[in-house]
Amino acid sequence: MDALVKKYKEPGLWLEQVDVPVPQEGEVLIKIRKTSICGTDVHIYDWNKWAQETIPVPMTIGHEFVGEIVELGKGVKDLHIGDLVSGEGHIVCGKCRNCLAGRRHLCKDTKGVGVNRTGIFSEYVALPVSNIWLCDKSLPEELYSIFDPYGNAAHTALSFDVLGEDVLITGAGPIGIMAAAIAEFSGARYVVITDINDYRLELAKKIGNFRTVNTKRESLKEVMNELGMKEGFDVGMEMSGNGIAFNDMINHMSHGGKIAMLGIQDPDTRIDWNKVVFNGLFIKGIYGREMFETWYKMQAMIQAGLDITPVITHRYHYTEFENGFEAMISGKSGKVILDWTT
Ligand code: NAD
Ligand code: ZN
Repeated sequence: MDALVKKYKEPGLWLEQVDVPVPQEGEVLIKIRKTSICGTDVHIYDWNKWAQETIPVPMTIGHEFVGEIVELGKGVKDLHIGDLVSGEGHIVCGKCRNCLAGRRHLCKDTKGVGVNRTGIFSEYVALPVSNIWLCDKSLPEELYSIFDPYGNAAHTALSFDVLGEDVLITGAGPIGIMAAAIAEFSGARYVVITDINDYRLELAKKIGNFRTVNTKRESLKEVMNELGMKEGFDVGMEMSGNGIAFNDMINHMSHGGKIAMLGIQDPDTRIDWNKVVFNGLFIKGIYGREMFETWYKMQAMIQAGLDITPVITHRYHYTEFENGFEAMISGKSGKVILDWTT
């Protein structure tokens, strides 16, 4: 079968022939229909320092997908051939304190699909049943291929009550934009989203009624004055991984404000800790998605009318993956989908 493989320890990705996997006990074999490209895949493609230290080579990469079950491994009972499925990209140990307590997103030994083990950019994939999400076939299929990043957005956006609150989101990447949509859908008063890339801010406007801010041209202080906000933002969602943006957030939170932090910061990022202490800020780190409470809410919000489809901006056949990666690297894209159906 065809697979997109990190074949060599250098920039790039290679379309290769690999064996179709055999589903083991407790696994299902999935015929992939659509996949989407994550920033992590771009880091592996670029072969940055993190990728060099993390990714075993050769390995098929990718973790965002939707597909159809075509074979059941031994002992699989509750899923059926023909089921449309997506899946959790984090495989957890099932044995640690948090796993046993049902807090699987906090597993001490999480393994990433397409990062620490074989990924899903291939025609067929075998995955454990415990990672499978059964899709509602009445919803647009391609949406399920972005459930992993939509799940990051949902996990972050639903971490704190936003009803009637003023929300600041730093970073209008695909995840920031989806988080903004969820905050609006959940009843926030003002949703302000920042970026330094106008394409991304224009894309955000297609999905919701947000106050977009290019922080190269406008300050958050000016925006607060315009909106009549006197004390600062109640809830912050850090989605840029940028230290300047994170400091901007810390400086514009109301006292007692809550920050959900998804963006992966440079280890050298500095903040004024006294603002955290004296302003009574609460900062919560967010990793992955709650299994499967976040997934339940994600599907239910779409069934209830949340529309995140404008965040998908590019679609290519998987053999044109180079174009997909180029679109991601250009910064002029939302989510980029690769089609494996033909
Ligand atoms: P992305 O890179 O597409 O988006 C980040 C956005 O931040 C970009 O549009 C960029 O222009 C913007 N940005 C850069 N500097 C800025 C600044 N000074 N002010 C405002 N915006 C600025 O990333 P994404 O795929 O949307 O993911 C968002 C973040 O979440 C990334 O940092 C990613 O690494 C991280 N992430 C974390 C997890 C997790 O489990 N914790 C999972 C997925 C992604
Ligand atoms: Zn565990």
